Amino acid sequence: MKIYEYQAKEIFRNYNIPTSKEKIAFSLDEAKSVAKNLTFPIVVKAQVLVGGRGKAGGVKIAKDINELESHVKSILGMNIKGLTVKKVLLAETIKIEAEYYVGITIDREKQSAVLISSASGGMDIEQVAQTSPEKILTIVIPSFLGLKPFQSRNVGYQLFNDANLVNNFISITTNLTRIFFDLDCSLVEINPLALYSVNNEKKLIAVDAKIVFDDNALFKHPDMAALRDIESEEPSEVQAKKADLSYVKLDGDVGCVVNGAGLAMATMDLIKRHGGNPANFLDIGGSSSPEKMRAAMKILTADKNVKAVLVNIFGGITRCDDVAQGLLWAMKEENIALPIVARLVGTNQDKAKALLTDSPITFAETMTDGVKKVIKALKG
Ligand code: GDP
Ligand code: MN
Repeated sequence: MKIYEYQAKEIFRNYNIPTSKEKIAFSLDEAKSVAKNLTFPIVVKAQVLVGGRGKAGGVKIAKDINELESHVKSILGMNIKGLTVKKVLLAETIKIEAEYYVGITIDREKQSAVLISSASGGMDIEQVAQTSPEKILTIVIPSFLGLKPFQSRNVGYQLFNDANLVNNFISITTNLTRIFFDLDCSLVEINPLALYSVNNEKKLIAVDAKIVFDDNALFKHPDMAALRDIESEEPSEVQAKKADLSYVKLDGDVGCVVNGAGLAMATMDLIKRHGGNPANFLDIGGSSSPEKMRAAMKILTADKNVKAVLVNIFGGITRCDDVAQGLLWAMKEENIALPIVARLVGTNQDKAKALLTDSPITFAETMTDGVKKVIKALKG
């Protein structure tokens, strides 16, 4: 689960990570009154759950109240990568002298949390990672010990040539690590971590903040779970969660209904391998009733990109006849006329086959057979 920059910054402040003086506003009027307690220039920042706001024109600096008004007007309601901006963060600006990157995430290959940092932070960090990976420093955080000061000191001296800044950096990365482990995050990121000067002293400050929580641990943090903004999530995924289905929307045209996450991934791989493009990941779970099957088909076919559906079930606890029943029910109730290929093996597969014999559904014997048939159906 992602949270907004302004929410992440609040967590930062609770963990003594420096941020600017700032406040959130939901309307132009509110923005104007919030601005009264801040000193210009003020940066107006779109609050949406995607990155790249700066490049999309969602971050603008205002030197006076007139500029602020016009920036807030242009940013509120703006569309950034399909999301509508409904709130803006107003923050006192600083004169940025350099932009660094620092983040903590899980590295699956290293089987551990890692601290990633770079002196080339800012809006082009993805580009830096691609073209000059040597500019990105990665160190493993031992899970039992946490990040040790000598580790961040080491990194700090590769980024800064000033002992004060290095100490700043140690404090920030230590606190960032505490957030990461305390709140069971999958990502905590500051980009840019900005360098600026006050009274000739150089300092670091978090200009942006990103926190992503591990959904599987959210139940341990009800106060964080309460920050969830359902309105900003993909509606089909919200619907799926309600029906107890694991669904992730993708941009292909072959809808997939599978039981088990592993089989679902394998099915998607196989579709790709045979030249197709999966429209989604969908795991209907171990025990599946006809109701669940109907809900799955409804969500799947609401996606207008879907041109054919592959049902791939390995029946264990899941009964193939339940799946077949649900499939027939869904086709009738939801008026589904798309080509459907079904591979149903395991518990009650004969009953399932009997149920589907007079239906328009194409049967497949194996996974590969199913994938080939659904791609053929797609091509007409
Ligand atoms: P993102 O594009 O969604 O990652 O949004 P950021 O919060 O990172 O802002 C994008 C860019 O705007 C930053 O890299 C900065 O260059 C600039 N920016 C943001 N806040 C400030 C600020 O307070 N002062 C100055 N001078 N620039 C800022
Ligand atoms: Mn940023």
